[in-house]
Amino acid sequence: MNHIYDMIVIGGGPGGYTAALYATRAGLDTLVLEKLSAGGQMAQTTQIDNYPGFDEGIDGFELGEKMQAGAERFGAKTELAEVHAVFLHETPKRVETSEGTFLGKTVVIATGAGHRPLGANREAELTGRGVAYCAACDGMGFKGKTVAIVGGGNSAAADALILSRICQMVILIHRRDSLRATKVYHDPLMQAGNIEFRWNSVVEELLGDNRLSGVRLRDTVTGATSELPVDGLFVSIGRSPETALVAGQVELDKGGYIIADESTRTSLPGVFAVGDVRTKAVRQVITAAADGAVAAHYAEQYLAENS
Ligand code: NAP
Repeated sequence: MNHIYDMIVIGGGPGGYTAALYATRAGLDTLVLEKLSAGGQMAQTTQIDNYPGFDEGIDGFELGEKMQAGAERFGAKTELAEVHAVFLHETPKRVETSEGTFLGKTVVIATGAGHRPLGANREAELTGRGVAYCAACDGMGFKGKTVAIVGGGNSAAADALILSRICQMVILIHRRDSLRATKVYHDPLMQAGNIEFRWNSVVEELLGDNRLSGVRLRDTVTGATSELPVDGLFVSIGRSPETALVAGQVELDKGGYIIADESTRTSLPGVFAVGDVRTKAVRQVITAAADGAVAAHYAEQYLAENS
C-alpha cells in the first residue's frame, strides 16, 4: 500500500517550501516534489534585495536552500522527481512522477512560471546558439560581446543591468517608448554607460545561419526596418504559467494561470495554488511565500472537515 501524505507540494520554490514549512509545523505529513533544486525561478537570481530580513540582499539559490532546510527541519520530505501526471479528482489525489506514484489528501500546486518565448522565426533552433532567456545563467557566455535584450519590465531591466557588467554593449529593445519596470531600475540603467535603448521597436526576424548574428527590427511607429548586428539576444518578455499538468482539472484564466483568490483555494476542493502560478497582481518572492502560509492554513481546515 502506498503511503498517503496529508499534503503533496508540487514545486520547491518559495511558495512551495513555505507551504511545507507551515504544514509540517501544523503537524501535517508533507512531501515536496521538486524536479531540479530548491528555489524555482528565484534560484536563477544572483541578488535578491526585496525579500525582507537580508539587509545586504541574498543570492536566490542560497535563499532557496535555506527555505528547503527550514521546512525539512520540521519534518517536510523532499523527493527529486519530475511530475508526469496528476489525478486531482481522485481520493486520495494521485501524482505520477519519474520516481513513482505519490498519494496525498491535499495537493499544493507551486509550479511557478517559465519564460515566455518571443515567437520569432527559428527561435527554438537558435536557443543556446545566441538566443537566451536568463542573464544570470547565460550572461557569462557573452563576456565582452554585444547583446540585445527584448522587454521593458522588471526582468528585462534587471537582466540588462546584469549584462551591462559582463558585456561590452547592451541594447534594450522595447515595443513602447518607456519602460514598464519600476523606478528603482531607471537611474542605474541610464547611468550604466553601455546600455542603449531602441524604443518603439520589435524583433521581426532572427538573423544568422548556425548561430545568431543579429536581428531585424521594425519601428512600430514608422514601420521602417533595420538590421542590428548582435552576438546574443536575451528574451525577457514575461513568463507563462506552468499549468499544463493541471489543465482540465482546475479552472484556469485566459492566460493559463490557476484561478485562485487570496485563500489560494482552486476550483477543486483540497487543491491549492501558490506563487506565480495563480492569478494575482504582484508576483514576487514574498507574495509567493505568503501564499504558502495561507495554503497550509486552508489545507489544515480542509483536512479537519474531510477526515
Ligand atoms: P512583465 O512585467 O510582464 O513585463 C513584460 C515586458 O515584456 C513588458 O514590458 C511587455 O511590454 C514586454 N512584452 C511582452 N510580450 C512581448 C512581446 N511579444 N514582444 C515584445 N515585448 C513583449 O514581465 P517580467 O519583467 O518578466 O516580470 C514578471 C513578474 O516578475 C512581474 O510581476 C515583475 O514585477 C516580477 N519581477 C520583479 C523583479 C523585482 O522586483 N526586482 C524582478 C524581476 C521580475 P509592454 O510593456 O508593452 O506590455
